[in-house]
Amino acid sequence: MGHPMRRILPATLCAALCAAPLAAGLPPGLLPAADHRPEVPLPDLGVRYTPQHALLAYVRALAAAAPDRVRLTTLNLTEEGHEQPFLVITSPGNLKRLDELQALNAKLADPRSCGEDEARRITETNPVFVWLGYSVHGSEVSGSEAALAVAYHFAAARDPEVLKQLDRVVILMDLTQNPDGRVRHLQAVAEATTPFNANDPQDAQNAARWPSGRFNHRLFDLNRDWVWQTQGETRAKTAAFLRWNPQVLADHHEMWPEASYYFPPTMQPIHQGLPEPFAGRWQGAFGQALARTFDARGWAYFSRDVFDLFYPGYGDTWPTFQGAVGMTFEVAGQGGPAYKRQDGDILTLEGRLRRHTVASLATVATAAAGHRALLWDFQRTRRERAALGDRAGAFLLAEGEDPGRTRALADLLARNGIEVLRTRADLPTTGLEAIGLTKAAALPAGSYLVPLDQPRGALAQALLEGEAHMGPKPTYDITAWSLPLAFHVPAWHAKARPRVATSPLAADAESPLAEAAWGYLIPAGHEGAERTLAALLQEGFKATALAEPATLKERQFGAGTVVLPNRTNPPALRARLQALAAANRHPVAGVDSAQMTTGPDLGSNRSLILRAPRIAVLMDRPANPMAFGAVAHTLIESGLPFVQLRADRLGATSLARFTHLVVVDDGAQGKAWQQLLGEGGAAKLKAWVQEGGSLLAFQGGAVYASRAGLAQAGFHFLAKTAEEARLKEKDPKREAPKADPAELVRPWDKREERALEESIPGAFLKAQVDGSHPLAWGLHAEAGGAVLDTSDPILELSPGGENPIHYAKEDLKVSGLVPKALEAKLQQTAYALRERLGQGAVILVAGDPVFRGQTPFTRRLLHNAIFFGAYRPAPE
Ligand SMILES: [Zn+2]
Repeated sequence: MGHPMRRILPATLCAALCAAPLAAGLPPGLLPAADHRPEVPLPDLGVRYTPQHALLAYVRALAAAAPDRVRLTTLNLTEEGHEQPFLVITSPGNLKRLDELQALNAKLADPRSCGEDEARRITETNPVFVWLGYSVHGSEVSGSEAALAVAYHFAAARDPEVLKQLDRVVILMDLTQNPDGRVRHLQAVAEATTPFNANDPQDAQNAARWPSGRFNHRLFDLNRDWVWQTQGETRAKTAAFLRWNPQVLADHHEMWPEASYYFPPTMQPIHQGLPEPFAGRWQGAFGQALARTFDARGWAYFSRDVFDLFYPGYGDTWPTFQGAVGMTFEVAGQGGPAYKRQDGDILTLEGRLRRHTVASLATVATAAAGHRALLWDFQRTRRERAALGDRAGAFLLAEGEDPGRTRALADLLARNGIEVLRTRADLPTTGLEAIGLTKAAALPAGSYLVPLDQPRGALAQALLEGEAHMGPKPTYDITAWSLPLAFHVPAWHAKARPRVATSPLAADAESPLAEAAWGYLIPAGHEGAERTLAALLQEGFKATALAEPATLKERQFGAGTVVLPNRTNPPALRARLQALAAANRHPVAGVDSAQMTTGPDLGSNRSLILRAPRIAVLMDRPANPMAFGAVAHTLIESGLPFVQLRADRLGATSLARFTHLVVVDDGAQGKAWQQLLGEGGAAKLKAWVQEGGSLLAFQGGAVYASRAGLAQAGFHFLAKTAEEARLKEKDPKREAPKADPAELVRPWDKREERALEESIPGAFLKAQVDGSHPLAWGLHAEAGGAVLDTSDPILELSPGGENPIHYAKEDLKVSGLVPKALEAKLQQTAYALRERLGQGAVILVAGDPVFRGQTPFTRRLLHNAIFFGAYRPAPE
């Protein structure tokens, strides 16, 4: 990789500084020396990054110049207004019959729609569908650059070998999976460009700012969102994936700049539910083809290391569950167009572009060569699963106490392409395996049944089972994600599908809200009710909340039930409430009297007066961008307005206008917050809480609150070195404990095990929930709930406050990797606690209650903290 300085200056600077104009087009030898059609325009690549508008202009020009081979559509329009283009490239013959080919491929995807003979005919004549995705992390920009070279090649090449490939392959290209992040990164690089130091690793071009372009607009990692589909980019992509049913997917990333290139096979753990030919044999075949291609150029690479195939939300694992060969490609890169490595080599944009282009071309060539076998394996694995019939088993979900939550889970499964049915008769749960903390209960008619002999049964199993088998190797990500646990929905696994009449998943019928003489109640603990409450309060409706459970005749209303009297509200109340309840899918009850059968009457002076919250969330360094993004996303989705307060502006901001302030994790155990906010910041926060503010602090934010004296609850850490450092901080004279001799002689190649023994890389733990506390109203977890724990911090039980969600002295592990020795350290510590400070409240959570937007159970804790967190009974 040479280092031609003139090639790393952007056009505008170069116009002023360079004598000779830049050469347009492609770096020499980037594409095979095939003949290309002159009417197809060349992209201008390898010197500087392609701005998003130029990328779009190029794909439009390409589609216009090669309409016989190229079809351009828009996959999505991002929140920042950027188009996400999608290209289909294939032979002219295939393109003319594209809809028909897509329909035939869909038949292969569902063996119930075609017999084996028909499937054989289709595999012999239909092309294979190859999905090429680029730059899902927006700062990993060379992927989208390579995408333009690949698109040009297949649109323009006249080489008979390429034409043969196009006959056998339909190429689907998601050229820029994260346009908002990509634009953010390119802008940061452009702003940091000078005529000097362009390849210095420390130069601003090569050092990301906050937030980096890795994330999308809402600061989510889109490469971990394929199952949960919390983001618009992901929803558009997965919907297209389910329409096309590709047999191969290659996702092009960049990794740290000192590395080489990564392609499959992956290392362990490989999820045991993945269909073998795609997770195993085909990964090997593609990996071998890539290795030969890279060997021919003398390039360095690695496989079977760093990257595994376990967490189902990844851009390689999810497609593999869907029956494709899902592959991650990683080139050394990120930052600006040049980077001086430790070995003295300059890592150039051109070098990154070359490798990704070659990898894409080799992927298409390998798929073309194996097209019939790929199609055959694709339909065969699904046919074998269908042949299991009832023996494949099923999962069953009960509506439980929050039917909207279960419905949300069922809808998410449907968005993953999984078929969900509703039972039409009661089922006993005897003999069924309860998932997670599910207790013996009924499965009345209207429960949900997910049969596992369906085409995507393997994915359904991986998402619904209580725990995935992992084996001895650690994984790159969290180790537990079971949807019934994350949603806190009662669920069972049946080894054989129960015989029960079913009907398809249909929209629930809306029931009109009858006029009620006194007012209306929104029962506590229903998914979607938080959106209705947020809207009503902002629109000026007057509401209170019951602070204790009540019943009206036979119907129960938990603490946190929202009370909307007619007398204090405008006549529009009923119509507005009906519209909101229908949109947000939760129940509403009319009441003709304020008198309840048991519990407080509706005018109880113990009721809590609800007010529209005025929320601020601390953003910018040192907030963990994803932790900030998850809170911001949750508030946006709930319709709760908030101010994004830059952390370094806290000192200059009047906090009096806010009712709530959220401090998320800082990735530094609270030390980074402490350093930035200083004593002045802590004093300011304390005064604000004392005047009535509610401080919500999670993970590192919670540790900060403790360090800064805003809370009495102490903290400690799982890892020995971190814990030792904490003790030393408290007592500088403390002597280090004597080292364990077994540790001192631990073999070198076993050193990574130590980190695993001292951390919890994302697992569900059982927490005890005090449902009478305002933070836990409506959590429906009298028998405990599963919370996602990602190691540190450990919060001690608050001595002077309340500890409504805590880890008891019992077995804590529900799902995932939890070293046994660590459970004892977590027992009798707090997950969520509240302390009162003056007129206000400090609410600490040891974990991230809205982690990646994937944990609806603990998400309610955030809503409770906002609506009810400051509650104290009056008079006290
Ligand atoms: Zn990446």
